[in-house]
Amino acid sequence: MSRACQLSCVAVSEPASAANLKGMAIRPVRLFGDPILRTVADPVTDFDKQLQNLVKDLTQTLDDAQGAGLAAPQIGVGLRVFAYAVGSERGYLVNPELSFPDDEEQDGEEGCLSFPGIYYDVKRRLNTVARGFTDRGDPVQLVGTDVLARCIQHETDHLDGVLFIDRMDPVTRKQAMKAIREANWDGAVKLSPHRMSDRIF
Ligand SMILES: [Zn+2]
Repeated sequence: MSRACQLSCVAVSEPASAANLKGMAIRPVRLFGDPILRTVADPVTDFDKQLQNLVKDLTQTLDDAQGAGLAAPQIGVGLRVFAYAVGSERGYLVNPELSFPDDEEQDGEEGCLSFPGIYYDVKRRLNTVARGFTDRGDPVQLVGTDVLARCIQHETDHLDGVLFIDRMDPVTRKQAMKAIREANWDGAVKLSPHRMSDRIF
């Protein structure tokens, strides 16, 4: 098969391929049921070119999916890295360590790129402080409140193999599991009529 044919075949089957052909690396988002989403991710030890590429891929895939957060396991990489894009707050964190400055809580709707079309209320802490590193190994701190705090908690959970269904109260979780069983995630499910992109992590 010629290279031109390979490229055109890819272009037909994958909507993100136009960007891929320009050198961007938009990766498929793993869906609930993929075992990597239940696996505890490893700490990053090498702050090298490979890590910098992972951060780029995460950021570009998050932009493409128009979500608010994306963790490395969601694109099939078992390392402790996540990217976020909540309003004007955009960035990423390597090896995040989460702490809570107070006891305040928030309740509200939450979605996950690994559960297309599934949105349910999840109780979270209102304020978070996450300490971590840049892709060069420099220490950074990310202070979050409201949606950004929700995002940071959701993404850090992903790195521990914890999913938002685990954080729902039992009644809500039961409803969510029913919706998940009924959901048809085969084929292209990028857009949902109910999407609220600022709350999909
Ligand atoms: Zn998620």
